[in-house]
Amino acid sequence: MASMSQPADNVLAPDNLLAKLAEHWPDFDQEKVLEGFQMAVEAHSGQTRQSGEPYVNHPIQVAETVADYGLDADTVIAALLHDVLEDTDVTPEDIQSKFGSDVLHMIEGVTKLKIPVATDSTERQKAKAESTRAAESLRKLLLAMAQDFRVMVIKLADRLHNMKTLDAFTEAKQARIARETLDIYAPIASRLGIWQLKWQLEDLAFKILHPDDYSTMKDRVAKSRSKREQELSASIEVLQDLLKEKGLGHVTVMGRPKHLYSIYVKHVKQKVPFDEIYDLIALRIITEQTYECYLALGLVYEIWKPIPGLYSDYIQNPKSNGYQSLHTKVEGPGGDPLEIQIRTKKMHEIAEFGVAAHWSYKEQGDDALPNPDNQFARLRKQLFDWSKDNSMSSDFLRSVSSDLFSEQVFAFTPKGDVIDLPAGSTIIDFAFRVHSRIGERLVGATINGKIVPLSTKIENGDIVHLQTRANAEPSLDWLRLATSSHTRSKLRAYLRKRNRAESISHGKAAIEREVRNLGLDPREVLSAAVMKEVAQNTRDCVKAEDVYARVGEGIISVASVVNRLRDIFREQKPDEEKLAPVEPQESTVVSGGIDNVMIKRARCCQPVPGEDVQGYVTRGRGIVIHRRLCPNLQRLVHTDGERIMPIDWRSDSTTYPVGLKIVMIDRQGLLMDITVIIAEAKANVVGAKIKTLPNHTAEIDISIEVSDINHLKELMTKIGNYSDVLSVLRGVGSGSRK
Ligand code: MN
Repeated sequence: MASMSQPADNVLAPDNLLAKLAEHWPDFDQEKVLEGFQMAVEAHSGQTRQSGEPYVNHPIQVAETVADYGLDADTVIAALLHDVLEDTDVTPEDIQSKFGSDVLHMIEGVTKLKIPVATDSTERQKAKAESTRAAESLRKLLLAMAQDFRVMVIKLADRLHNMKTLDAFTEAKQARIARETLDIYAPIASRLGIWQLKWQLEDLAFKILHPDDYSTMKDRVAKSRSKREQELSASIEVLQDLLKEKGLGHVTVMGRPKHLYSIYVKHVKQKVPFDEIYDLIALRIITEQTYECYLALGLVYEIWKPIPGLYSDYIQNPKSNGYQSLHTKVEGPGGDPLEIQIRTKKMHEIAEFGVAAHWSYKEQGDDALPNPDNQFARLRKQLFDWSKDNSMSSDFLRSVSSDLFSEQVFAFTPKGDVIDLPAGSTIIDFAFRVHSRIGERLVGATINGKIVPLSTKIENGDIVHLQTRANAEPSLDWLRLATSSHTRSKLRAYLRKRNRAESISHGKAAIEREVRNLGLDPREVLSAAVMKEVAQNTRDCVKAEDVYARVGEGIISVASVVNRLRDIFREQKPDEEKLAPVEPQESTVVSGGIDNVMIKRARCCQPVPGEDVQGYVTRGRGIVIHRRLCPNLQRLVHTDGERIMPIDWRSDSTTYPVGLKIVMIDRQGLLMDITVIIAEAKANVVGAKIKTLPNHTAEIDISIEVSDINHLKELMTKIGNYSDVLSVLRGVGSGSRK
């Protein structure tokens, strides 16, 4: 007669759930929640739990817990449906179309990964697959949580309900689940500040893992508490009357529950004698308004004598996790110290429900509380710092997260999307990871609100804000600054797309810059003979242009070309020295100040003593000294070659103005910093001009006085090494073009 299943019979009604939701969210979308409820009931119909109860009662109770903690309708729907992807025919598309992507992401976050195991695999293989699946699922869960904390609240509520309903399982399985709860989920609840969950999970696991200790502890605490409660009850009544008399009848006074596991840890692991665990009972006073906390404190002191020095005001000075409360200790009945906490209802919810309460107050636009975004940012940062935290109780979680986070970093877009990157990645990698079009147009970035150079390495939990410009394009240097192969291949693809002429000029400029950084003269090093040899030794290259183009396309690195160049140049140099200055003894030696009216310093290239210079004999205006690589001089070499003469210019005590162009991160005080560096190098600043560029950088044109080329080089190195400086160049070709 009795049919196999009578599902609808003992399925829980939605009323309780709706009532809990309405407490925090009076205007919630009841129809949508009921639709979710119905979907869960239908999807799980016919399924029962180990206990024989309809399966759907499990997600319904998980949803109730989530609603209790103040989370919204979407979270409640996700909790109702948290097992459907794993265990039923419902598809992600069904959920997406009915409830949107937020709900879908939350459900996907808590869904365990499926790692197929061959049916003929051994027990060991199965166990290994299971532990891989557990680790990978945890990793996925942590990532989903980083994006949306609500995911973890659902997972913890799920675990709580499972822990409460373990009876039907074998002892071995119960112990395994309890161990995992203590190792992983309770520490996570603690990190998220959800004390309510942490305590319950710990006590439930304690009961399963150490049943004897649990019941002993429970008896002793109950006995000792009932004795103290009796002692206290008279004075609590007096306090309550006093509160009522002063118009604070709505303020509640309650005993503070102490959870057994923490007493057990104190007593057994930290070896504190049971009699000395005084705070078995403590009082908590919950008010509506902040000022009422202080009124209540005054009334407390009328009844009990405060113990000096044991008062803390965390309302005016919240703890870094946003915790607010007044703490005081008084002499209770019998002279035993009695701990009292006083706070408002909202402060209490944050203390008990942590991130869940922060989240719900943020959504409801309550700004009387500590900024929730700061709390989220702090939690995210912490989440990824677990592996470094020795105080963390769980070795297991520490090792899992250190595996998880040692090879990868996790950073966030301003919207809170998680971007995972190989450890050591820079802003450039981040940008290309978001989208290659973003990477290609990247011009600047901030990390956690601070402007930083593009070469900055990303750290776990950083919030990275990228700046792009439509006509910007990647620089060749980025191949060096990017650390992931993904970024480099994207960069190369982009650089290859540029046309050949452009690639040649980019490549050549990059090589010239590098040669100059080595203190060598590109004109000399990049001679046709040297470049020809480089080309012949480089794959797919015949002439110098091929090499430039390959560099410009990012196929071969600037460094590899420059290394080869340097080697060849060094080999050839001895010969060159024999050949080059035809008659070196005929060099005109100029020493120090050019007081000779017939010898002038070229304004275009601003040469200084000690560097490679040549003289140009003008028609009637004497000799003008140019740097050998000055483009103007090079033109004259072609048109007026016979008027060029060797010059050997030696330094004395005279100084010469030289223009420098410095590009650096734009921020306050940058000119000051640069002038300090210059002053330390014993040079004078004779003029400076700052131009702010749109991409958070600034260009400084500065004119300084140096004594010779060594002095100048030393100065340029010092400025170049300064952290915010992007480039330092000599202002070649500025001034008159004669
Ligand atoms: Mn579940």
